[in-house]
Amino acid sequence: MSKISFNNALPMVDLKGQYRHIQDEVLNGIKDTLENTQFINGQVVKTFAASLEQYLDVKHVIPCGNGTDALQIALMSLGLSAGDEVITTPFTFVATAEVIALLNLKPVFVDVVPGTYLMDVSKIEKAITPRTRCVIPVHLFGQCVDMESLMDICQKHDIRIVEDNAQAIGAEVKMRSGQTHKSGTMGDIGTTSFFPSKNLGCYGDGGAIFTNDDELARLMRMIVNHGSSKKYYHDVIGVNSRLDSLQAVVLNAKLPYLDQYNKARLEVAQFYNKAFAELDQVQTPVFTDWSTHVFHQYTLTVPADKRDAMMEFLKERGVSSAIYYPVPLHLQKGYAASGFQVGDFPVAEELSARVISLPIHTEMNADKLEYISQTVIEFFNS
Ligand SMILES: *Cc1c(COP(=O)(O)O)cnc(C)c1O
Repeated sequence: MSKISFNNALPMVDLKGQYRHIQDEVLNGIKDTLENTQFINGQVVKTFAASLEQYLDVKHVIPCGNGTDALQIALMSLGLSAGDEVITTPFTFVATAEVIALLNLKPVFVDVVPGTYLMDVSKIEKAITPRTRCVIPVHLFGQCVDMESLMDICQKHDIRIVEDNAQAIGAEVKMRSGQTHKSGTMGDIGTTSFFPSKNLGCYGDGGAIFTNDDELARLMRMIVNHGSSKKYYHDVIGVNSRLDSLQAVVLNAKLPYLDQYNKARLEVAQFYNKAFAELDQVQTPVFTDWSTHVFHQYTLTVPADKRDAMMEFLKERGVSSAIYYPVPLHLQKGYAASGFQVGDFPVAEELSARVISLPIHTEMNADKLEYISQTVIEFFNS
C-alpha cells in the first residue's frame, strides 16, 4: 500500500472540511454580528439557548464560557461546603476533578469498566460516606454512564448528580420504562463544552449548563453573571462566564446538523469495529445496553508494550492517533496531595497504558477509512 505523504496526513478531526459545508451561514452570521455589535449576550446567544433547549427537551440551557466553567458553576450552585465529597471517575479529562479541587471539595474516585471505559456504577455505594454530596458521571467518548442505576443510588442517599456531558451531546439513554432522555438532562444538572473538536464545537471556547430545576437555573444564571440578576447588585458569589455572540453564530449553524454529524461518527466506528473484529490483540469499543453512542472518540485497547510502536507505525504512514488519557487523574502530580497510590484504580491504570484513539470525524470517506484500518491491520500482522 502506498504511504500518504505528511502534508496530507489523516488528522484526528477535520474542522476545515466541516466548515466548507456551513461556510455561508457562518460568514453571514459573523457579518451580522459585526454590524449590529451585540458581541455579548446578543440575540443569537438567546436563539441558540432556546434551540438547544428544544433539541435536548430540557427546561433550561444556560450558555457559559467553556465546559470547565460549566462544571464549576454547576457545583457552585449546589450549596456545598469545603471538604464535602464529590464522586467521579479517574479516567477522564482533568477538568472534571479540577473544579472539585478548586472549590475545596474532595474528589473521590471510583474505577471504570474495561470495555466501555465508563464509571463502574456498581462501585459507587462503597465510595459513599456521610460527606458525599454529589456524583459527576462522565459520558466518556460519546456513550452514557448507566444513569438509571446511578439515579436510583443517588436518590436513596440524597446525593446530587452533575452529568459531565462534554463528550456525548446528542446521545440518548433508554430507561427501563422505554422512555428515552438526551444525555445531560437526567441528573440535577448537565454540562457540556463547545470546544472546537467536540461533537458540537464552536470556533473558540464555549460551554453550557442544562437543568430542569427552576431554582438551580435561577441561581446558575446569576452565578455566570457575577452573582447578579440586577446590574450592580450581587446576591451570591459568582464568576464571569459567557458564550460570545460570534461563537453562538457558529453553534446556530451547526446544531441542525448535530444528529447527522453523530450518525457519521457512528458509521466510522462501525466500519472500524468490523475491520478490527479479527484482530485478537485489539479490543474494539463495547456498546452498552442503555445508551446510544455518538463516538466523540474511537478508542481501542491494544497490548501496552505495542502501543508506542503502533503510534509510530501509523505516524510514518500519515495516520494520526492520540492517547486519551495517558495518566489517570489519581496519579497526576497536581493531585498528589490527595494521597492516591498506584493500584488504587487498576482498571483506569491499565487503560491508560493500553488505549489508543484513531481519527474520527464528520468528513471521513471510504478511502480514508480503508487506508487507516488497513494500516492498523498491517501493523498487527507484521
Ligand atoms: C472537553 C472536556 C471538558 C472541558 O471543556 P472545556 O470547554 O475545554 O473547558 C470537561 N470534561 C470533559 C470530559 C471534556 O472532554
